[in-house]
Amino acid sequence: MIALHCSAFHYTFPQIGEGVQILVENIGSSPTAVQFDEDAQTLNRFLSHRPGRDGGEYRLTGPLRVALHYMRSGEDLLFDGTLSADLAGQCARCLEEFPLALSRPFSWVLLPASPQGAPGRETELNQEDLAASFYSGDTVDVSLLVREQFFLSLPSYPLCQETCKGLCEQCGVNLNSEGCSCSPGWTDPRLAALATLRLPTQRASSEKTEKAHS
Ligand SMILES: [Zn+2]
Ligand SMILES: [Zn+2]
Repeated sequence: MIALHCSAFHYTFPQIGEGVQILVENIGSSPTAVQFDEDAQTLNRFLSHRPGRDGGEYRLTGPLRVALHYMRSGEDLLFDGTLSADLAGQCARCLEEFPLALSRPFSWVLLPASPQGAPGRETELNQEDLAASFYSGDTVDVSLLVREQFFLSLPSYPLCQETCKGLCEQCGVNLNSEGCSCSPGWTDPRLAALATLRLPTQRASSEKTEKAHS
C-alpha cells in the first residue's frame, strides 16, 4: 500500500490510528512524495494545551497541509518537505485576532537507534547532525514529527504587525485604531496605596522561611 518509489507520484495516506505512519521497510533509496492533511480539530486541542505560551494563542482555521519527500541512505532515513496552514493568532500586544498564513520548509534525518548498551552513532554526532534524531521499530510516526515541527514553527510572540502599538496601559484603548489623552508614565494616585500592601500569602511564605532558618 505504501510501496511507492516514484518521485512524481502523489499519494494521500490513510490516517492510521491517530496519525500517519510509514513502514521503514517501504522506504526506498529513491525519493517518494506524499501529501496529507493533519486534522485541525486535533491540532487545535494540542494548541490550546500548549505549555509555555506567553501571552499569545493560535488556532488553525483549516487543516495543516503536509508535502513530504522521503528516502533512505543505507539505514538512515531522510525526510524533507513543507508545512502550510492558515491560522488565527491572537496578538500579544493588542489582543486582536489576526490571520496568519504559515508555510515552512523542514528536513529531518532519522538514524537507527543503537541497541541498548551498545556504543552507537550518538557519540559520533557533531554539530551539523544536531537536526538528526533516532528511530527504532518498524514504523516511523510521521504525524508526530510533523506536529512537533508545526508547534516549533509558530512564533512564540505573535504580533498582528511588527509595529503594533498595543493597548494603552491606563485606559485600555487599542492604540492602533484610536488615540487617547493619557500621559505616559502616569499612575492613578489611588493605586499608590496598593503598591505598599503586603499580600498575606507573601507574609505566610516569608514566615515559613524565617521558621526554617531558626
Ligand atoms: Zn496587535
Ligand atoms: Zn489611554
